[in-house]
Amino acid sequence: MSIIKSAALDEQTSRIADNLPNFSHFVRECLLRHAVNMNAASCDRTRWVSHPRSQTPFETNRCNPTVQPSCFVCWPYGPPPIDAIKKFNLGEADLNYLDHEARKYNTHLIDLKGNSVQSKRKPKSDRKSTFLERFKQLFTQ
Ligand SMILES: [Zn+2]
Repeated sequence: MSIIKSAALDEQTSRIADNLPNFSHFVRECLLRHAVNMNAASCDRTRWVSHPRSQTPFETNRCNPTVQPSCFVCWPYGPPPIDAIKKFNLGEADLNYLDHEARKYNTHLIDLKGNSVQSKRKPKSDRKSTFLERFKQLFTQ
């Protein structure tokens, strides 16, 4: 039995979808992989040893963020940018910094930690406050 659901794509993802031989199969596959990843809730990859260039390298509790495909158990915001990883390897940053930078860097990705969609668009409440601010300005000038 097939259940029809619709998806809103942007121009970029629409072009990608156009080149797939079977979009529905692709979506089903992604959903199943996502469910396996989230249900496992643990990572079986080798732990990432940080600070290879420093005097005191140590094993982190996460896998290497540069290995593809990205591990969303260890890196729920996606992989951090390479500049942040370099800082970490030099001992100039911690894992919290990497998470923070990953969240800023991967705004196009779905936030798997809260399982909610991150959006580049401003939330409606921001647009409303902007409108209200303009409205208030009309009466205060
Ligand atoms: Zn991992």
